[in-house]
Amino acid sequence: MEHFDVIVVGGGPAGMMAAGHAAEYGSKVLLLEKNSRLGKKLEISGGGRCNITNAEFDNRLFLANYAESAKFLFSPFSRFSAQDTFDFFAERGLPFIIEDRKRAFPATEKATDVTRVMKNYMAEHDVEIRFGVDVKQLLEDGKICGVETTAGPLRAGNVILATGGASYKETGSTGEAFQWLEKLGHSVAKATPDIVPLRVKEQWVKDLSGTTLDPMKIVFTAKDGTELPKVGKILFTHFGISGPLILNSAHEVKKMLKQGPVSASIDLFPSLQIHELDRNVLEAFDGNKNKIVRNVTRLLVQPGMAKTLNANLPDELLDKKINGVSQEERKRIARTIKELPLTVTGTMGYDWAVVCDGGVPLEEIDTRTMASRLHPNLFITGDLLHISRPSGGFSLQLCWTTGYVAGEQAAG
Ligand SMILES: Cc1cc2nc3c(=O)[nH]c(=O)nc-3n(C[C@H](O)[C@H](O)[C@H](O)COP(=O)(O)OP(=O)(O)OC[C@H]3O[C@@H](n4cnc5c(N)ncnc54)[C@H](O)[C@@H]3O)c2cc1C
Repeated sequence: MEHFDVIVVGGGPAGMMAAGHAAEYGSKVLLLEKNSRLGKKLEISGGGRCNITNAEFDNRLFLANYAESAKFLFSPFSRFSAQDTFDFFAERGLPFIIEDRKRAFPATEKATDVTRVMKNYMAEHDVEIRFGVDVKQLLEDGKICGVETTAGPLRAGNVILATGGASYKETGSTGEAFQWLEKLGHSVAKATPDIVPLRVKEQWVKDLSGTTLDPMKIVFTAKDGTELPKVGKILFTHFGISGPLILNSAHEVKKMLKQGPVSASIDLFPSLQIHELDRNVLEAFDGNKNKIVRNVTRLLVQPGMAKTLNANLPDELLDKKINGVSQEERKRIARTIKELPLTVTGTMGYDWAVVCDGGVPLEEIDTRTMASRLHPNLFITGDLLHISRPSGGFSLQLCWTTGYVAGEQAAG
């Protein structure tokens, strides 16, 4: 049976970094990828531009984004931080640009360039890569000793798992490694979509598909009355709502959904008080006294939004002449503009989730090495780890960091 110092399972960002770095230390490394190419999910990240990390160079502030996991991550981040990611790629000819919320992207704005750098890194250090090989199981003979694959068994001194989580299955991350890890005694937290668009009931939202409005305020209200207000950019889609604000609210909305559908209301003019908006309505009405309300609403909201406003007002008001509209009815229009009602019925699920939470709890990992505490020559990286995080480059940085540390330790 063929024998390697290190076998890495999975050719996403965590696996490529782990394989390259273990080989840099002189190990004989084999990377197994079931797809016919590397980095399939990486290449659709950030809409194909790849939000590769976040330009927060103070590790303490960076790690605050990982909530309760932060305390476990100081050690690996002291080995490979966001600054190290900047340096790693810049030294290999791919500097970054920084956008709002400190999000960093390759200057070429092409995720494929990130894969190219990682391929070159692995080639430089003689990583052997085999495509189309599906790992079916881990092999044990008292300790982990290799992997069973569709191309037969392979032995290794150390195995690094980098098979990803359970979102966007068509990219290859189908989540079966969670079952292997459970069999080995790990307590895998169930994966649920975490950074994910939301499904809504109302048809008018779907009619706005492709429209982005910024900034807007949305207030989610759970059945028990708990409110979650958020301000930012909302993207309307053919199924509901998305965009960074919504994706990053999904973790909390998901909890509210346990009580049933969540009511939400969108404020189209969060910077205006209701009386200021009412004054604007009054001004628009003043010049159009003989028209009906339906034909004037386009003056009250953003381009393309009049149909939406009309869909949320009664026909008897829409068909009234402006000079017949009462003060109370005018105020109702202003209130509707500030409180467009929505019903969130669920998330869009695994196939649409940018990130799922769930995976191996960090308590079961020695995060100084990324080795399993139950099987010291098995290393666990990237999306296999149970770490909640927002969007903004925080997922990929986890891959660079955990892959680097696992590669170094597995080679040692
Ligand atoms: C649409 C989208 C956009 C995203 N945008 C961003 C972003 O801009 N910034 C950011 O930080 N994060 C982003 N993410 C999240 C980020 O892409 C993931 O966190 C990251 O790819 C996880 O890397 P990984 O190496 O752990 O696993 P993956 O990238 O999932 O790679 C796992 C690899 O393992 C292979 N594999 C799985 N099982 C087996 C097996 N049994 N045998 C052999 N091979 C196997 C798979 O084929 C796959 O190639 C995005 C995710 C999605 C879905």
